[in-house]
Amino acid sequence: MNPPCELCGLDTGPRPCSLPTPAGEKLFCCEGCRGIYQILFQIETPPSSPHPEPLQPEPPSRSES
Ligand SMILES: [Zn+2]
Repeated sequence: MNPPCELCGLDTGPRPCSLPTPAGEKLFCCEGCRGIYQILFQIETPPSSPHPEPLQPEPPSRSES
C-alpha cells in the first residue's frame, strides 16, 4: 500500500509525485496536489542547484564511549 496523498488523502498509486521538503519527502497523487501543497506551504524546490546544500546538518559527534 502506498501512503495517502499529503493534500487530498487519496492513494498515491503506482507513480506518486514526490516533493522533498525540510520535514521530509512528501508524496502526492498527482502533480496538481503537489503544486498546491508547494504554494500552501511555500516550499521552494529549485530544479537544479549548482551548489546543493544538505537540508539536514550532520549529527553532532558524540563523545560517549
Ligand atoms: Zn492528491
